[in-house]
Order: sequence, then structure tokens, then C-alpha cells
Amino acid sequence: MSATKTAYLLLGSNLGDRAALLREARAYLAATAGEIAAASALYETAAWGREDQPAFLNQALALRTTLPPGLLLAHCLAAEQHAGRERSERWGSRTLDVDILLYGSEIIDQPGLTVPHPRLAERRFALVPLAEIGGQVQHPVLGLTVAELLARCPDPLPVQPWLEEQL
Ligand code: ATP
Ligand code: CA
Ligand code: CA
Repeated sequence: MSATKTAYLLLGSNLGDRAALLREARAYLAATAGEIAAASALYETAAWGREDQPAFLNQALALRTTLPPGLLLAHCLAAEQHAGRERSERWGSRTLDVDILLYGSEIIDQPGLTVPHPRLAERRFALVPLAEIGGQVQHPVLGLTVAELLARCPDPLPVQPWLEEQL
């Protein structure tokens, strides 16, 4: 039995009923990958990388898991399939994206899996939700906390707390 680790994940959706897709993703991951120890609020964020697409909802999770990183990634990708994700162009619209931002303090560089996520420090849409639940967590490569990375992040794209529209 492997030790329990805390992994930080980022959920994202910009197609379909985004909030429902994130809710289903949390249920899927809780059933298959570990215990959700903390979840940030939902944030509405402008699309990064390819800006000509609808805004995303993003949410960070702290997941207590005994899965090794490769198996955790397999469950993240399975959650995307469960949400009907289709892969077309890089950084395109998607019903669900699940990225591993951090896995304990491990540094992983293997084919198909890089942790910490290599673009974390450049992305306000990831750092804002992550800072809400893990501001004091140290980035094992950069040697700064998440809160410090957020304070230094040059990304100008807006990240706003999301409140479900009242009908
Ligand atoms: P980005 O990685 O810039 O956020 P993306 O999320 O749109 O882009 P995807 O098409 O979802 O990229 O993923 C492509 C591949 O990235 C996945 O199949 C997976 O093997 C690989 N990958 C490498 N490192 C990670 C990680 N830390 N978390 C999730 N996927 C990763
Ligand atoms: Ca991503
Ligand atoms: Ca991804």
C-alpha cells in the first residue's frame, strides 16, 4: 500500500453546462482517485493560449490519494472521457480538462507526465484557485509558495469568482 499524498488538480470547462461538468468531475474523481480534502470556489477565466473561445470555469482541488502519479493521470484522463471530451486543436474548447498541478513535493518528468505542471507559474487562472486552498504550498522546482508565484504572475487575463446566474 503506497503512502497517501496530496495532489492538487485543476479542473476546467468551457463547453456545455460548465458548472455541472465540474460537479460530475468531482464525483468521478472522488469515486475513482481519492478523497477531495479541499475544493476552491469556481472562477470564470478568460481562455488562455487561444483567446478566441468562450470563457472557462476553473476550480482547484486538493486530492488525498494513494495512487501513484501515472495512475492518477489515467483517472484524470478517464474523467475527461466521461465528460465527452473531444480533442481537436491544442488549447481548444473542451467540456472538461483535468490537470495535475502538484503531486506532493515530487518532481516528475516522464513521457506524458510533467509535474509540477510546466505552465503553472504563467497562469493566473490556475494560481488564483490553487492559492485559495494551497497558498502556502511550496513549488518544488521554483522554491516559492503558490501565493508568492501568484504575486509575481505576469498573466493579465481576468480571473473572477463565479456566481451561478439567478433566474
Ligand atoms: P496544458 O498542458 O498546456 O494545460 P492541455 O491541458 O490542453 O494543455 P491536454 O490536451 O489536456 O493539454 O493534455 C495533453 C497531455 O498532456 C495529456 O494527455 C497528458 O499526457 C499530458 N500531461 C503532461 N503533464 C501533465 C499534467 N501535469 N497534468 C495533466 N496532463 C499532463
Ligand atoms: Ca490544461
Ligand atoms: Ca490537460
